[in-house]
Order: sequence, then structure tokens, then C-alpha cells
Amino acid sequence: MRCPDRSPDEAGRLRALAEYRIDPERGLPSLDGIVAMAARLFDCPAAAVNMVGDAQVFLASSIGIGDFDHARDISFCAHAMLQDDIMVIEDAALDPRFHDNPLVTGGVIRFYAGIALRAPSGHALGALCVIDPHPHPGFSAQERGHLQSLARLVADKMELRRLEVALPTHAHASPVAIVTCDADGGALSCNPAAATLFGWPPETLATIPLDRLVAPADRPLVRSLLHRAHDGTVPLLDGTPVQALRHDGTAFPAELHWSHWHEGEALRFGVIVHDLGASPPAAETLDLLARHDSLTGLPNRDSLIEHLAGRLGSDQPTGLIVVDLAGFAEANNTLGHAAGDDVLRQVATRLAETCRPETSQPVTSLPDTFVARLGGDAFAAVLPHGDPLALGGIARAIVAALAAPLLASGHEIALGSHCGIAIAPDHATRAEDLLDNAELALMQARATGRGETALFLPQMRAEAVARRLFEAELHHALRLGQFTLFYQPQFALDSGALTGAEALIRWNHLQRGLLEPAAFLPALEASSLAEATGCWVLDAACRQAAIWRRAHPDFTVSVNLSASQLRRGNLCAVVAGTLASHGLPPQALELELTENIALAQHDHVLAQLHDLRALGVRLSFDDFGTGFASLNLLRHFPVHAIKIDRGFVQDMQGSDRDRAIVTGLIRMARDLSLEVIAEGVESATAAQFLRRHGCAKAQGYYFGEPRAPGPFVERHLALAAPLRTRA
Ligand code: C2E
Ligand code: CA
Ligand code: CA
Repeated sequence: MRCPDRSPDEAGRLRALAEYRIDPERGLPSLDGIVAMAARLFDCPAAAVNMVGDAQVFLASSIGIGDFDHARDISFCAHAMLQDDIMVIEDAALDPRFHDNPLVTGGVIRFYAGIALRAPSGHALGALCVIDPHPHPGFSAQERGHLQSLARLVADKMELRRLEVALPTHAHASPVAIVTCDADGGALSCNPAAATLFGWPPETLATIPLDRLVAPADRPLVRSLLHRAHDGTVPLLDGTPVQALRHDGTAFPAELHWSHWHEGEALRFGVIVHDLGASPPAAETLDLLARHDSLTGLPNRDSLIEHLAGRLGSDQPTGLIVVDLAGFAEANNTLGHAAGDDVLRQVATRLAETCRPETSQPVTSLPDTFVARLGGDAFAAVLPHGDPLALGGIARAIVAALAAPLLASGHEIALGSHCGIAIAPDHATRAEDLLDNAELALMQARATGRGETALFLPQMRAEAVARRLFEAELHHALRLGQFTLFYQPQFALDSGALTGAEALIRWNHLQRGLLEPAAFLPALEASSLAEATGCWVLDAACRQAAIWRRAHPDFTVSVNLSASQLRRGNLCAVVAGTLASHGLPPQALELELTENIALAQHDHVLAQLHDLRALGVRLSFDDFGTGFASLNLLRHFPVHAIKIDRGFVQDMQGSDRDRAIVTGLIRMARDLSLEVIAEGVESATAAQFLRRHGCAKAQGYYFGEPRAPGPFVERHLALAAPLRTRA
């Protein structure tokens, strides 16, 4: 056996390696996707990025590598990194340098292909390699090209790593163009290589927002990538192709490679800009990047479509399962993007393992089994048969596999998932239609509940068409001002005085007349319009309250919140702005939320509610008592009032239990210093009962049904005030 030589400047080499500060235990998870891609491309059970230290080697990333001896003297990569070209050993048992190497005699390696990874200083750090315990005869020129492309990707990732751990000193010296920016794309720094590439003086370049460095047509793309990464919905892709803009206005084709990290609270991005004009990448590299997701190493949506088209074109029975995660966005928001990336990689591995239980190595594809990442937290699996029962079994196995807690960044994360199934040729004969249908089934599964799976049914398509038409109608409704608010009065039970009103949405539909929320609210909330409509309701209700308060200074208005209004995290700012624009004091507004909203995104919502409370807006729990977690929520959520659900109030007369629940809720609220308002009061008897038991306020048909502003004024405000207010 021949031990690997030392490099001529070994001390410099080790210093260069140390600059990356790679923890041998944790490795560099950002390389995992590329390593997984390498194993799959070369059909090898194992692949790794191996760093060569002084006496030992360590893995920055690996897949399918079991326990092995880390001594540098027996390392294949320690040889490979000294070569200019790729080192390919088709059968190590026949190679005089390696035949008696313990890794060969121990059955770990027979085939090896590795390529050196170098620091910008030129020092070899280690190698990217693919390994098989069986020999591989013949390593084609195309395969060499692939390995070189992957090594370039690894080198970029490593350069970004150096940037993260050692800003700004190393970025400065780096020969590749690097720009760093904040979460809004505002530039923070650039290195001389970037200044040269873009033709700006460095001081000026460091003041130019990132999107100004690309052609106008690509600006929305860059902005949306930053926003989506910031929202945590989509981890950044690699290799974004753009037209970049020089100082002199000329454009050049470039590719942006992204990395992000946190500085304190703030999110920072590092972007490597590759000038594609200078060294056009090999066609294979582009192809490889275009067809794979670099985070997980899985094929992407385009590859999936292509694969499906191939199968469907040759009439092979095909089952397609699409999977999405429940709770991923929340985990990503609370634990950070690195943890989110890690979760997605683990999900990819579990998914592949579940779909290919026959192999111990997740990446070695069984013929015809194909797992892809569709984007965000959505994945897909193609199976080589069309048996609905068997596919249902696999879908349930996927849900079960993903339900086991994951460990990411030291946190245990429990995710849910849903699956939708479609089968060719029964459900579709075109790849896109099959995917569409599986996604419709997925929607159905999602609507049914966490952990559900659903098989496509033809009526789902008809419903989808109807939904789309209805959504278009809703868009028109908002744009043309067909939504309107009705107001239902709220009274103080002790004095009998009007205290305010709840605003309730109605739709003045041209053909169908006045529609109540039950007819359109579920569709509205599921659509992209929910947030905008919520803003409209808030604004219209505040405008109305401001008018009515001129004559009735204590009048308050209650507005129902929807989940979508709390998703973005800017509700407090929206509310403050709306109040200010109508000159309304915060105590004139009460926001109602249901516990479903509170539970769905617990911490995210909680923070916003605290902000709203600090602003001075009142908060109440709507439909209180109907959920499971009500009592527990009261301990944590900063609400002022609970609204006892109308179900209990209406059934009070006939049911001892409901009476006990209502009086119990009133007592509990009093103990917690919360106000109580009873909904659905339909009779004098109910009103008297509630007053006797200390309920402060009531709302219901007995006091007045919801009315348009004009009739509301006539009925409730005109008499109470000398001045007749007009809506
Ligand atoms: P909610 O917040 O519980 O609103 C009270 C509902 O009970 C209203 O139905 C009201 O008309 C009805 N109601 C009032 N008094 C009585 C009574 O004495 N007996 C009976 N049986 N019902 C009574 P509506 O207006 O159809 O609203 C239904 C739901 O739609 C609301 O329930 C609320 O969850 C939602 N909603 C209404 N407007 C909005 C809105 O602007 N935004 C959001 N996000 N949700 C809204
Ligand atoms: Ca309500
Ligand atoms: Ca209610």
C-alpha cells in the first residue's frame, strides 16, 4: 500500500483548511444536497466531501458511509486531492496502490472516483468522492463532466462558508465576486472582485441594492427570492440565472449562488456572482442544476414532469403520490432557516427510504421509483404501478414516517403531512394533468385533516373549476365594492345601554342577492384574497365607528379577524395605521379571534397580540367554549374578553348542562378579570338569566339583528342621541 504524499506547503494547507472552521462532528450540512445528488448520479451507495487534516480525515458531508478508519494514511481522498485531474479507481483490488488498503480488504471500497477541492489560495483541502463496495467498469467522459460540475458547486458552497465565518476579511481577498446584503436586498458590502465584475468603485457598489445589479426583467425574481427566504416559505435555490448589469449599463449572463445567516436578529445574505459569459459552464452543469434541487439533491418539478411524460408516453401504469408538510413554515419561522433546510433534507431522506424500502441505501434508485422535490415543503413520489390500494398503503406509510419527530438544530420537531394520489392512465394521460390531479387530491386530504391521504376522484376536477370561477367572482366583489358590513348591536346588561356593535360582512351579489358569510367566507379565507378583504373590513368598520362616535363618544366596534391577517406578522402596524387614518383611539376597536386562529400559529400570533394589546386595542376570544384548548389559551393570551358561544346561550333554557357551562364560564372570567359578552341572546328570559349571573354584555336577535348602517342608525342610534348621524 502506498501512503499519500504530503503537499509541499503542508502548514499553509492546514491553515487554509482551518479558515473554514468546519466542525468535524457537525460537518457542513449545506453540502448534503450535492453529495446526495452525486451518489444518485453515479449510482453509488455512498458519496462524501472528505476533508484531509493533519493525521486524520473528516467528513464535511456524506451519505451512505458507515463507520470507517479516519487515518490519513489509508485515505483515498488524500491521494485524490494531490492530483490535477479526477482520480478514478475502477477496481481498487486490482490497483497496486490500494489492493491491500484496509478499506479495500475490509469491503468498504472497490470503486472510487474523487476530485480535489481547493481553497482560492490553491491549497488542496480534500476531495469530493463517490464510492462503491463493488467495482465499476468504465467511467465515461460525461461522468467526469458531472463530477467536475458537482465539485464546482461544492467549492462555491465552501467559499460561502468561509464568508459566513470570517466576514469580511476573507470575502475581501476572495477571487470570486461576493456581495452581501440585508433581508430587503440592501447592499452591505462587496469585495474587490465584485467591484471589478460590475465596473463600479467598491464604495459605490456597496450602496446599491441587490436588485439594481440585475436587469429590470429579473428584479422581481431577485426580490421575491429574498422575500420568500425571509418569510421562510421557500429556502433559497442555488444557481439563479439572471442578466446582470454593469455600471456602464451593459448586461451579462450571470448566476447567483446564495447563502444566508443571522447576525444577531438580522438576516444576512451572501451572494456569489458568477459571470457566465467569462467561462460558460458545461452544458451538463446547466442541465444538472436545472433538473435538481440543490438543497435535498432530489430531482425537481421539471425532472418529475419529464420522468412522468416518459412513463405515460410508453403506457406504463404509474402511481403518483404528492406530499406536503403541515407545520413546516412555523418551524422554519421559529427555529430559523438553517434548521428549516435541515428538516427538508431529513424529510427527503425519509421519503426516499419509505418509497424504496427494499434498499438499505436511500439514494440508490430502484428502477422506476422516483422521488422529487416540487418546491417549498412539497415532494412527490412516482411508483411503477397503478394499484390504488397499494398506493394508499404507501401514502399512509409516508405520513407515518414523517410523523416521527425530527431533530434539527438541537430541537425536536414534530411535523404532520398529507398525501394526494393520482394514477395513470385512469386519471390522466398527460404528465401535467396527472400532477394537477394528485395536487387536487392533496387539497382534499388537507381539508379533511392532519395526516390524511386522498385518492383523486373525477368530481374533484369539477369542484376545482367551480372554485376557480368563484374565486374570480370574489376578486370582482372586492374590486367593485360589493362587500358591505352589517352591524349588530351590543348592550350592557345592567344599564341596558348600547355599547357598540360587531361588524359582520355581507356580499351584495349581483345575481344571488345579499349573501351571508356562510355562503362565501370559507372560499374567501382559502383564497389569496383573505388578507386584503380583512384589511378592507377593518378599514370600513373603523371609518364607520369614527362617524358614529361623533355623537356617541363611547361607541366601540368589534371586528372579526381571519387567520390570514396574522400570518404575515404585520397586523399591529396595519391596525395602528388604520386607526390613525380615521382618527380613532385604540380603545374604540375590539378585535375578535377564535382559538383556531390562536392555536394554528401559537407563538407567532401571541407576539402580535401582545403588540396589539400594548397599542391599546381590545381583544376577545370569539365562540368561546367550543374548542378544546380554551382554558389553556386564556392563561397565555392577552385578551380582555370572552364571547360565550351562541350555541350554549341558545340551549340554556332547555339544558341544565348548558346553563352550568354558561354560569361556569361567567364565574371563571370574573376570577380572571376578563369581561364576558354573551352571543345569540334571543329572549328576555335568557337576557335576565345572564344578567343575574353577572354577565356584563350581550348580543343577539333579542336586542337586534345585524343591520346595514342606515337601518342600524335608525333603530339604535337615532333615538339614543339628539343628533341623527348618517352613515
Ligand atoms: P360570529 O363572529 O360568531 O358572528 C355572530 C353570528 O351570529 C352572525 O352571523 C350573526 O348574524 C349571528 N347571530 C347574531 N345574533 C344571533 C342570534 O340571536 N341567534 C342566532 N341564531 N344567530 C345570531 P353571520 O353574520 O352570518 O356571521 C357568521 C360568522 O362569519 C361570524 O360568526 C364570523 O365568524 C364570520 N364573519 C362575519 N363577518 C366577518 C368578517 O368581517 N371577517 C371575518 N374574518 N369573519 C367574519
Ligand atoms: Ca365574532
Ligand atoms: Ca361568535
